[in-house]
Amino acid sequence: MNESMPLWVAEERQALLAAIVDYSEDAIISKTLDGTITSWNLAATVLFGYHESEAVGQHISLIIPADRLHEENFIISEISNGRRIQHFQTIRKAKSGQEIPLSLAISPIKNSQGIIIGASKIARDISRQKEAAEKQGMLAAIVNNSDDAIVSKTLDGIITSWNNAAARMFGYTETEAIGRHISLIIPHERLAEEDYIIGEIKKGHSVSHFETIRVTKNGDFIPISLTVSPILNESKTIIGASKIARDISEKVAAHKELEHLYQQVKTLSDRKDEFIAMTTHELKTPVTSLKGFLQLLQIHTGADGKGRLFVERSIRQVEKLAMLINDLVDFSKLQAGKLGMHFESFDIKVLVEDCLELYATNSSHPFRFNYSGSLEVQADRLRIEQVIDNLVSNAVKYSPQGGSIDITVEGKTDAVEVKIKDEGIGIDDAVKGKLFSQFFRAVDPGYSIPGLGMGLYITKEIIERHGGSISVESILGKGSVFSFVLPRQSCNQ
Ligand code: ADP
Repeated sequence: MNESMPLWVAEERQALLAAIVDYSEDAIISKTLDGTITSWNLAATVLFGYHESEAVGQHISLIIPADRLHEENFIISEISNGRRIQHFQTIRKAKSGQEIPLSLAISPIKNSQGIIIGASKIARDISRQKEAAEKQGMLAAIVNNSDDAIVSKTLDGIITSWNNAAARMFGYTETEAIGRHISLIIPHERLAEEDYIIGEIKKGHSVSHFETIRVTKNGDFIPISLTVSPILNESKTIIGASKIARDISEKVAAHKELEHLYQQVKTLSDRKDEFIAMTTHELKTPVTSLKGFLQLLQIHTGADGKGRLFVERSIRQVEKLAMLINDLVDFSKLQAGKLGMHFESFDIKVLVEDCLELYATNSSHPFRFNYSGSLEVQADRLRIEQVIDNLVSNAVKYSPQGGSIDITVEGKTDAVEVKIKDEGIGIDDAVKGKLFSQFFRAVDPGYSIPGLGMGLYITKEIIERHGGSISVESILGKGSVFSFVLPRQSCNQ
């Protein structure tokens, strides 16, 4: 203390210093050279949990973890030699046993003769700082180990960070890229994209999954998917943009490959359709003349005898063949979008009766026909006849053990509903969804029932072309009900 200073000034100054020490946010402790604590401020109490009265008079080792006691020797030796210690990062121990990371500043205390008699220690809790540094280190590690290029830039497009993946993807090292304009990797004709992206960022918007092309140091073009987000400073002002770029070369190549395969499959499918169209046309003429000649033969063969029986059987086989060919013809027309419709007014009841008349004589199944309401519709008569015929013939075909077949036709306000119910082999739930697809068959091979799997596909197309719908309910081993609804006024006219 200055000897010329009046006592009251000295006292006032001391009181001021004491207040500063008391209200400091850092722990301030003083100790003698042998380590005895001589003062302990309020922040020291808060930080270490010992009250001033518990700490003063104790040895400083009170707050030093056992494995760090050697530090004290070093500190005392530095202080004894009149040297200050700054930013000494270490760990101290609180009363609760919790370890606290600290930054220490230690200075010698001299008496009025200038002799060092102790040390003053300012301890700052750096737990938060350490945590923040650890978090930053972790984030930096994530960014550096990411497979995606992560780049940040200012709002004028100057690159401010460049991770390892960016270096791998674009070929520029971090040093080569930082400080350069982002146009370094933007192809000339795409520079306008940067204005759009920065425009969005300035509005505080992110840009996600923006698929574009960037150029590498070698001049190679790579397809990438960009996600760009604003970077905000502490006062929430947008100061730049962070950009994550994912190389989508593989995705693009896979897409191209898929497109190529699709084209190949389409070409094959088109060729198959052409082949079916051509062969069915070629088959139709000889089968029609064969049927004609067989009918002539039937007339010229005597009423009895084996010859007549064989001719009849041949005619039935030729008729089956003709039906299959007709299905193939319809299939080709559908594929080519050439299945024409001719609408007229008719009564579905008459159609069902005609169909049943044919089956009743050729099948051993008992048929029941129920109808109600008006059954008059505007539709393609031949096509609807084909639908009913197909569903009835399936009901017969897939009931090899017999069982009755019920046909119900109900006239509703705007539509007519037709249901064909059999007690046949039924259909497994798992395949119901596929029944109406081309060439799908769900028959157990044990039944050996012939067919091509086209009838239901054609049936569904015909019903849908009339604006109607078709569905099936079935229990395996018990039987099936196929139902279709036909609008009275078909929409495709
Ligand atoms: P196809 O009878 O020529 O095989 P469809 O397209 O008419 O062709 O029928 C497709 C498949 O649906 C048939 O193979 C059969 O497995 C099943 N199916 C159709 N109708 C019935 C039915 N009434 N009962 C049981 N299964 C049926």
